[in-house]
Amino acid sequence: MAKKQAKTTKTEAIEQIIPDAWPKYAAAGKDPVRIRDVRVILTAPDGIRLVIVKIETSEPELYGLGCATFTQRPLAVVEAIEQYLKPMAIGRDVHDSEDLFQAGYLSSYWRSGPVLNNALSGLDMALWDIKGKLAGMPVYQLFGGKSRRAANVYVHASGRDFAEVEESAKAYWDEGYRYIRCQVAVPNSATYGVSGKSMQAAYHLDPQQDAWDPDAYARIVPRLFDHIRARMGDEVELLHDIHERVPPITAIRIAKEVEPYRLFFLEDPFAPEDNGYFPLLRQHSSVPIAMGELYVNQAEYVDLVKDRLIDFMRVHLSDIGGLTPARKLAAFCEYFGVRTAWHGPGDASPVAHAANLQLDLNTPNFGIQEAYLPPDRTREVFPGTPEIRDGQMWSNEQPGLGIDLDEKRAAKYPYPDHALNGAWPPIRLKDGTVQRP
Ligand code: MG
Repeated sequence: MAKKQAKTTKTEAIEQIIPDAWPKYAAAGKDPVRIRDVRVILTAPDGIRLVIVKIETSEPELYGLGCATFTQRPLAVVEAIEQYLKPMAIGRDVHDSEDLFQAGYLSSYWRSGPVLNNALSGLDMALWDIKGKLAGMPVYQLFGGKSRRAANVYVHASGRDFAEVEESAKAYWDEGYRYIRCQVAVPNSATYGVSGKSMQAAYHLDPQQDAWDPDAYARIVPRLFDHIRARMGDEVELLHDIHERVPPITAIRIAKEVEPYRLFFLEDPFAPEDNGYFPLLRQHSSVPIAMGELYVNQAEYVDLVKDRLIDFMRVHLSDIGGLTPARKLAAFCEYFGVRTAWHGPGDASPVAHAANLQLDLNTPNFGIQEAYLPPDRTREVFPGTPEIRDGQMWSNEQPGLGIDLDEKRAAKYPYPDHALNGAWPPIRLKDGTVQRP
């Protein structure tokens, strides 16, 4: 009787089957570099839950990193990668990033959404990283090279009152920043973009937060910009984020009232669900509009660009699926005079910031890059985190995305223990109604 075969692991079984099942697009006669493993690494060096994908290859020293951070639902992304995308990817030629993106995107039949897009992004960015390393070039070279030396960034000034915002903005100006977002607290109201009541935690994580008062906010914003413009002069570029927090007609009123202060852009006046208000806004205000960090499906933004209803495209790269869809979107925007302003907060990992930068350097219709200035611990976990100086973000000119991950250090910072696993607590109106965050 034949001896029973040793049981193979799931990964080994996949490795035996997949290389023959997938189309071979590699050049004839060449044995391609293949995806050997897809690993998900969770870390929170400064308390923000980050999700990183590491693709290991048949070349022992060659790997790529991608960002799959959906910080409010990180564990759902892990499942999407490990249970669904990893089995599709093992054994594939590392060069086939486009085919792998399309196959992964369509494999769920029902597609898009932040969980599936972040999962796709983790693999997609990692494959671009590998592509650059194999070419011996930074990824922006694969897109067509540099359109500029470095990417202009904007930073976040905020405070409890106008004087504090002014002080914060002036400090950034003195450090060389020329684009400054200004947000002021609405007294006794859980305001977006400023520290919470305790001035220690961000508003949305502050358990002691007050109710939200949209009308008090709408009254204060034009006065804030009257104050800042009068005291900082004409040179500084001012930005503001409404963060979808007021009724649409109130956002239109704000857009009219801030017109005299010549904002660089006004961000997210509406929720994605209220896209239909954009034509009305355009009829009433010439303030430049930035939109889109919450978009997850091209059906949400193609018409806004095509109809020239926004000025800056703000999508979060990992939330639309990574570099592959983002570079197409940038090119599409170019034809309509829409500039890019990729979302760049703290809950995008340094890997995501490095990916943003590759596009920023190449895209002719680049507008501005949102900067996050990561604390030292995050920088130590991610060697190669893009450097920001003189108000700009600079490439370190390393092959690939130019970013690395110190796994030993990352392991020292597990996710914080929290009942909601990263989900945001609700923001409420004074009568208790849940509001958009
Ligand atoms: Mg925003």
